[in-house]
Parts: sequence; structure tokens; C-alpha cells
Amino acid sequence: MSDAQALDGDRHLNQLAFQRAVSGMAFISADGIFVSVNPSFSSLLGYEPDELIGVHVQVLNERPEVSVASVSPSWLAYYTLETPSEMRLSDRNGSTVWAKVSVSAHELAGEKPGSLLYLMQLQDITERKRAQLAEASLRMSEQMYRAITEHCTDIISKHSLDGLYLYVSPSVQTMLGYEQEELVGTSIYDYFHPHDLQLMNTAVDELESRTALKLPPYRMRNKEGDYIWLETHLRVIEAADEHGREFVCVSRDITDRKNTENQLRKTNALLQKISSIDALTGVANRRSFDENYAKEWRHGLRFSTPLSIILLDIDYFKRFNDNYGHHEGDICLKQVAEALKRAAKRPGDLIARYGGEEFVIVLPITDERGAAYVAEQLRQEVELLQMPHPSSDVSSFVTASLGHSTIIPTRDLPPRELLVRADRALYQAKQEGRNRSRAFGHG
Ligand code: GH3
Ligand code: MG
Ligand code: MG
Repeated sequence: MSDAQALDGDRHLNQLAFQRAVSGMAFISADGIFVSVNPSFSSLLGYEPDELIGVHVQVLNERPEVSVASVSPSWLAYYTLETPSEMRLSDRNGSTVWAKVSVSAHELAGEKPGSLLYLMQLQDITERKRAQLAEASLRMSEQMYRAITEHCTDIISKHSLDGLYLYVSPSVQTMLGYEQEELVGTSIYDYFHPHDLQLMNTAVDELESRTALKLPPYRMRNKEGDYIWLETHLRVIEAADEHGREFVCVSRDITDRKNTENQLRKTNALLQKISSIDALTGVANRRSFDENYAKEWRHGLRFSTPLSIILLDIDYFKRFNDNYGHHEGDICLKQVAEALKRAAKRPGDLIARYGGEEFVIVLPITDERGAAYVAEQLRQEVELLQMPHPSSDVSSFVTASLGHSTIIPTRDLPPRELLVRADRALYQAKQEGRNRSRAFGHG
């Protein structure tokens, strides 16, 4: 065999080894262009057999926008690594491929000295790398969860669906005084305030259809036997074993907030008592009416001037509430109060909420004709609101009935008399079909 024949034979074998090699191999020119690529190399990166030829090696860079600037133009020289290094590459779809990469430089025989060709070899380690990363992140999250549950000031607990404690975090000691072991195996229901039991049952029933829930504030007995207000977020989880579903709770002590709320409620009630304004409608309240009426009665007595009052009652208001709910009912009351303000606007007139859906209007120095006029104005203003009231028998809108009465106060008459008479007139207006005003003693 001639030297030439032997050389040809060697070439052929090298070629075969290159084509059949399990690891990815590619020859790259000094300016970074793929010259020859074996099938393993192409398929590892998702390319067709010859697709990479003539393409710049930068195509494998996962983040070219970062790497090109910093690594180019000596990308290959930089990675001329005899010991393989683990790198992230980008495949044809831009997905990450983890590979063990080695690059070696070879001087080309027969070419001018210093002319180099690079051989790049790849081994796919994506699977192993993914598994490693997943494990590391799992370890991390386990550590994180432990840190959270062990150090969080909220109580974190896990329960079977029937309420048994399966786990409770150490914060239960500071918040409720129990040891962790003391609670595990006992039922959460044993610690609820008896008044909150029904509430909890209803909430827990909701878990049939939901997986997360914020429980309404409730009380739990602490080790000393006192009750602590808690707020709990609850989530249903699938148990790791055959126990089926379990739930995890994060509970916060809201006793301070509750105490403040209670205090605020008491203060508000007290303020309401000593104030003269009705909190819902903003008109005068009953207490204020009583004072004002007594004063106007004395005034009428002294100067023998007529005093009128009008009682107004919303028609079929119970049905309005039943239809739209109490909240809408409250809004209606506010609107009615606003309408009344538009009709009774003389400086001495007083509009007050007499109770529920009844209002009273005091008209000093006003005779019966004046009262009849104002009453009709009040009725019209309410009707003009055009608030839909489909269950009313008298109109498709909210309406009111009114009764009025006028007296020149005398010493023989009890001040209540005027109110009694206005109430009779109101009764008559209702009897006659509602959405009308009537004067006492007529008809
Ligand atoms: P009528 O036409 O005979 O006056 O019938 P009515 O339904 O208006 O009278 P009833 O006295 O039977 O009902 C009054 C309703 O007013 C009952 C109550 O639920 C409602 N109500 C009283 N106070 C309030 C309140 O502050 N807010 C709301 N939303 N409803 C109130
Ligand atoms: Mg009423
Ligand atoms: Mg009514």
C-alpha cells in the first residue's frame, strides 16, 4: 500500500468515526463558522444534518444579546478548554440545552502557519442538570417552608377534614399557651367559643365546593381558659398518603383589633345617643325632635300661634326591604330624607327621623292650609325620586303616606295630642289607599 493509499485509508476511518460518534462533534473555522458537523451534534441541538454549515457558532449562545458583546470575537479562543466545561446552549427552538463542552484548537497541515481549526465536542447533560436543579430547588423550598413555619408569628396548622390537629407550628405556644404536642391529635372544635361553633360549621361546609377560605373572625380558648380572637385563612390540600384531603390554616391573633372595634362601636353608640343627628339619613334624630317639639309647643302656647306637624310613612317598605335587601332599604331611606329636605325648607321647619321608615316634620307658626301644602309637596318629592318598587300595590315607584294636624297650643291640651292626631290622619291616608296626605278631622 502506498503512502497515499494509507493516508486515504486513515482519512476514511477518521471520517467514519466523526460521522458515527455518539458525542456531538463539529469543526469550526477560526472566524467562528461551522465547517463540518456530525449527526449527533446537529440532532442534539435540534438541527437538520447540514443545517449548521456556514452558520456562525454564536447561534448556540443562549443569550446572544449579552454574550456577543462580551465574548466575541474570541469566543472560541476563550472556550478552548481541554477540560470540558458545563455550559448552557440554545437549540434550534431557543430552548436551553445543558452540555458538557470541550473545544480544542488544531493547526492545519499544509495551510499557512498559525491557521487554526477548532474541534468542538458536546455531551448532552440536560436531563441530569434539570434533575439537579429540581432537587436543589426542592431542598431550598423545604428549608424555606421550615423557616417560615418555625419562625412565623402566625400559627400554621394542618388538620384532617374532621378538624383533628395533625401539625401545629411553635407559635401556638406564644399565642395560645399550648405546647405543640398537647394539641396534635385533639380536635380544633374543642377550642372554639360555643357561640362561634355554628359559624365555623357553616364556613367549613363551604369547603365542599371551595378549596380556599377566609374564616370570619372567631374566638379560641387559650391554655388559661380565656378567649382569643383569631382570623384564619384556610386551604384544602391533597394529603400525601391515603388520608385524602387535609387542610392547612394560617391563623392570626386579632384580639387587639377586635377590642379596638368593640370600643369604637361603644363610643359610636354613645355619640349617637348624645348627638342630634340620625346617623343613617343625616336628618334630626328622635331625641332632637323631642327637644325641638317641646320648644315649639311652648312658643305656640306663649304667642298663641298655630303649630303643625306632619307624619310621613313609606308605603309597603317592608316589601321593599324583602325585595331588594336591607342595604338598598337604607339607601332608599337616605334618598327619601333628601327629598323631604327639598320640600320643607323654611328655616324654622324641622325634619326628623321618627323611627324606622317614618319621618316627622315640625312646622312652627303654620296653619292647616300651610301644612296641607307642605305635606303635598313632601309626597310629590318622594314620588319624583322614581325609585322602582315593583312589589308596591299603589305605584311602581316608592311612595309615602302622610298625616298632618294643626293646633294652637293651650294649657288644657297635652303636647302629645298633636302627634296623636297626625298619627290618626296618617292611618286614614293608609286606609284610603296610600300615596296621599290627609289632615286630621277631615272625612
Ligand atoms: P305600610 O305601607 O302599611 O306602611 O307598610 P310597610 O311595609 O311600610 O310597614 P311596616 O310597618 O309593616 O314595615 C316597616 C318596615 O320598615 C319594616 C322594617 O323592616 C323597615 N325598616 C324600619 N327601619 C328600617 C331601617 O332603618 N332600614 C331599613 N332598610 N328598613 C327599615
Ligand atoms: Mg311604619
Ligand atoms: Mg310603611
